Amino acid sequence: MTKNSKLSLFDELGLSESLDYALSTCARCGFCKPVCPTHPFGGGFEAFSPRSKIYHLKKIKDGKGELTNDWVERLYQCTTCERCVEVCQTDIPLVQIWEAARAESVKMGSGPMPAHKKFGKFVEEFDNPYGEPKAERDRWLLPDIKPSEKAEILLFGGCTCSYKMPPMLQTGAKILTRVGIPFCYAGGKEVCCSSPILRTGQIESAKRLIGSNVDLFNEMGVKKIVTPCSGCSKTLRHDYPVWAKHLGKKWDIKVVHFSEIYVDLLRQKKLKPVRELKRKVTYHDPCHLGRAQNIYDEPREILNSIPGIELIEMDFKRKDSKCCGAGGGVKANYPDMATEISNSRVKEAEETGADTLVTMCPFCQTSFTQSLKALNSPLQFAGVEELLLESLE
Ligand code: SF4
Ligand code: SF4
Repeated sequence: MTKNSKLSLFDELGLSESLDYALSTCARCGFCKPVCPTHPFGGGFEAFSPRSKIYHLKKIKDGKGELTNDWVERLYQCTTCERCVEVCQTDIPLVQIWEAARAESVKMGSGPMPAHKKFGKFVEEFDNPYGEPKAERDRWLLPDIKPSEKAEILLFGGCTCSYKMPPMLQTGAKILTRVGIPFCYAGGKEVCCSSPILRTGQIESAKRLIGSNVDLFNEMGVKKIVTPCSGCSKTLRHDYPVWAKHLGKKWDIKVVHFSEIYVDLLRQKKLKPVRELKRKVTYHDPCHLGRAQNIYDEPREILNSIPGIELIEMDFKRKDSKCCGAGGGVKANYPDMATEISNSRVKEAEETGADTLVTMCPFCQTSFTQSLKALNSPLQFAGVEELLLESLE
């Protein structure tokens, strides 16, 4: 980047005002520093703090600094967990700014990081970040699950649940079928929601994916989308309306996470958990579900509806929940950092005295199951939806 760069992509993304606001409003209070899960991996140096990244962006904006490779790397050592946003008293949209700065680094050729380039190439070729065959996107579909040809509700599978963790998706589809809610499913026509691409600044590719999905949803006449993935629901809920407008496409679709559907069905008594499950559980709030979508009560309401379940909270919960370490492309490019963050959260879960760690996010689930194994932890892992389904049968 040249010394006089004006961070032009912020203009294109409509974030110039947010950046100006952040640069003029940041009080340098440093509240964001101790809560940031990745800051300690910079040796505790100030340059790795969220505050410092804002300060450096100001220098670039003023033509007094450059987005050097070191700074670009620091921008990518961020899980986009929003803990900094939560504690910042000045309402600065910090994660939007980090993501736009990453996009700027991609535009100038120094970002993203190698692992992100690799899944970016897979997305271009296969429409998913795992390099899995497009034609097998519906391989999670069980023979007794029959989506409707046409329905107002679309079940969005997402890449991780469709290819890597089908039980979360299968549970959702089984429950919709059980209560007689018709839903359609786009199968191999669905493409990656763009979350890993968007979060790592690869916006040209993200535009293609979002445009393709928005056209598909509109052609199918979808009014509501439900998905079990916290990353997909965050992206569909918050990013799609903005990008659809940017791309000149219609967007009039409500997005819900499966936890919201389950709670509605429980309240309407259409789901009745009857089987007693004798477990002491502790619930981890996924960043993309909690801070990003304000979904804190629903998973707890589901757990409390199950006979025999005792919910024991961790000290850091709800809006103060710690991160699992997987988000924002950190697990892909900095696996050791992600593992350390995940291990520390598992140890916190152990301290509650619970016997089971539960959550509602495929990325948190992957991180925690690996940590539980590596730490030889006495805790078991279960998905909230898995316990719900078990108590119904
Ligand atoms: S989003 Fe999370 S990891 Fe990124 S700077 Fe903020 S607190 Fe740190
Ligand atoms: S918490 Fe907000 S105001 Fe305080 S230093 Fe961090 S970004 Fe600036």
